Amino acid sequence: MNDAIKVLIIGSGPAGYTAAIYAARAGLKPVLFTGGQPGGQLTTTNDVENFPGYPDGINGPQMMVDLQKQAERFGTKVNYGLVTSVDFSVYPLKVVVDEKHDVLAESVIIATGATAKYLGLPSETEYYNKGVSACAVCDGYFYRGKEVAVVGAGDSAAEEATYLANLCTKVHLIVRREEMRASKIMQQRVFSKPNIEIHWNTETEEIIGDGDAVTAMRLKNNKTGEVKDVPVQGFFLAIGHKPNTDIFASYIEMDETGYIKVQPGSTKTNVAGVFAVGDAADKVYRQAITAAGTGCMGALDAEKFLVAREMELANS
Ligand code: NDP
Repeated sequence: MNDAIKVLIIGSGPAGYTAAIYAARAGLKPVLFTGGQPGGQLTTTNDVENFPGYPDGINGPQMMVDLQKQAERFGTKVNYGLVTSVDFSVYPLKVVVDEKHDVLAESVIIATGATAKYLGLPSETEYYNKGVSACAVCDGYFYRGKEVAVVGAGDSAAEEATYLANLCTKVHLIVRREEMRASKIMQQRVFSKPNIEIHWNTETEEIIGDGDAVTAMRLKNNKTGEVKDVPVQGFFLAIGHKPNTDIFASYIEMDETGYIKVQPGSTKTNVAGVFAVGDAADKVYRQAITAAGTGCMGALDAEKFLVAREMELANS
């Protein structure tokens, strides 16, 4: 067990880095694997205005750089690698990085977060990165002075539409029902932008392009049945997320949508020594601050687990 890492953290969003800060300050020398998107979802957002302690808001990517620095300051080893599979039937627990490096760990904290969902249209795949994007903050700049669409009706859609309205001539917001799920303040921001047109009760049937780039979208009003093509150059998805938990499915109990089940009031999964934090285990709150809070819980739970195990070994 000498070569096993005490606390291995998978994921580099607010949950992963907070777990790392707590585990490092407890002297557990955590090792964190960043995953394919170092910094996680906050690197695709602009201003974070709801994280306590930043009265003027903070830029998402900057916040993640700061969290990484804070974790490293106390001795976290941050590795740029993607965990591609695990074997939680053995102990120490086994994690495979980049499909080739086996890493052993006495405890694992899963902080793999969630990924943007797509509509599932073939034309969406065809025009991915040729006009189709799930991140307005990442790609919006390319569409400045152009006409774009945002699909969705939650806070993400409201935020993305408002952001794009500052760059683009016009934003079409495609809402499948006759109301938005977004918070009132975010809806107000949308309604106050004269260049956002909301298409209520509307679904996207097709994304149309010339082979190289998006040129329009085909919309259907699900009340009247009316179908129309609307010219746009950019098509942004903001319809929610899927937890990044597929690689754990053989070992870890999840709900029907892939969110990891944890014991109430803790971050413990069904496998001893494996803890789940952040959006991978939270389909209700999904906020940076709640992710950070559960990251802290994960580190404290892992520490308790390691202490109990050491005592058991000493007494045996
Ligand atoms: P949500 O799950 O809240 O909303 C997803 C939206 O997409 C819903 O309006 C849903 O419609 C719509 N949708 C889903 N599938 C389809 C589809 N196939 N076609 C058309 N529309 C579809 O996700 P968000 O990403 O918006 O938000 C996730 C969480 O993050 C929330 O808790 C939110 O509050 C938070 N958040 C906070 C922000 C902030 O405070 N700055 C910014 C962004 C997110 P329907 O309503 O009909 O189900």
